Amino acid sequence: MRTPHIAIIGSGMTGLACAQCLTAAGFAPVVLDKGRGIGGRLATRRTPEGWQFDHGAQFITASSPGFQALLEQAERVGAAARWADGAERPHLVGTPGMRGLAAELGRGIEVRQGAEIHALRQSTRGWELTLAEGTQVFDRVVLTVPAPQIAPLLGPEHPLSRAVAEVRLDPCLTLMAAFDPDTPRPFISQSDPETPLAWIAQDSSKPGRPAPVCWVAQASPDWSAAHLDLAPEAIVARMLPMLCERIGTRVDDTRYAAAHRWRYARVAVPLGRPFARDPSGTLHARGDWCLAARVEAAWTSGEAIARDIIAG
Ligand SMILES: Cc1cc2nc3c(=O)[nH]c(=O)nc-3n(C[C@H](O)[C@H](O)[C@H](O)COP(=O)(O)OP(=O)(O)OC[C@H]3O[C@@H](n4cnc5c(N)ncnc54)[C@H](O)[C@@H]3O)c2cc1C
Repeated sequence: MRTPHIAIIGSGMTGLACAQCLTAAGFAPVVLDKGRGIGGRLATRRTPEGWQFDHGAQFITASSPGFQALLEQAERVGAAARWADGAERPHLVGTPGMRGLAAELGRGIEVRQGAEIHALRQSTRGWELTLAEGTQVFDRVVLTVPAPQIAPLLGPEHPLSRAVAEVRLDPCLTLMAAFDPDTPRPFISQSDPETPLAWIAQDSSKPGRPAPVCWVAQASPDWSAAHLDLAPEAIVARMLPMLCERIGTRVDDTRYAAAHRWRYARVAVPLGRPFARDPSGTLHARGDWCLAARVEAAWTSGEAIARDIIAG
């Protein structure tokens, strides 16, 4: 029997975990992602001026032996390192940025960036994926996009769209700001879910980062939802003074500031099982939203689907 032609939509942790596991079992999946860089929410922005920010996931923790082993291997090859942020449980970060870990996981896998899937439909030929440049046909498809983005691809009446209809992800507005080198650095990170800036981190304190003073601030789910449709400049105008006040810096000392809008950031209502599958058994949907708002949940979900495919 010929090896099935498998497409994995999404090059985040879920898609990469699935692709790695399938590749190790002798399959040759193709990962398609609309983004310019690998990693999805394992994201790092580098600016032409040399600033660098992890504007998605901040750090990774591991509780399962399998995920611990993966991170240990990443540490050995220099794609991850411990962040000395004072946390009791080790917080690992990708190096030289969070995306570095994704890049390492994507090694040896065919990943096509800038490949946005506009629609997905089943025909007698298999699963037809509509991209800007035309249609591509696969025997099996693994969808790892955030759950609310499944219905627009398959249609709201598709069984898989209905299966994930209750899943909810909170938005997160994120501020990236760089300051003069002599500005205060009163803490490494601060988590305060009751305030509009629920998380603040001195991003440049992570291992392997360039020297300048860079901070990342994440707005709370409520504040993000209330300001979600503001233009990026308006988000900066509101978040930057709040950040400066918290770290004791003047807005005038800002050297760079930008905002990122994550419409689907963290899982608020998960599916409660590792993946969902359509009745034909050839279309799987999964992601962190199946289990929990963590990179490890994405990895668990990705591996689970691969095992399901391998088992036939
Ligand atoms: C601001 C923020 C902070 C976070 N902090 C932490 C943290 O500190 N620790 C932690 O463990 N977790 C954290 N998380 C959660 C963590 O990032 C996610 O759980 C995990 O990265 C999800 O991986 P994924 O592969 O399931 O999804 P994603 O990383 O979202 O990957 C989905 C991919 O699908 C692609 N895609 C979507 N639609 C299409 C389409 N139509 N065609 C082609 N490609 C498409 C996207 O471009 C994306 O690359 C955070 C998330 C955010 C946003």
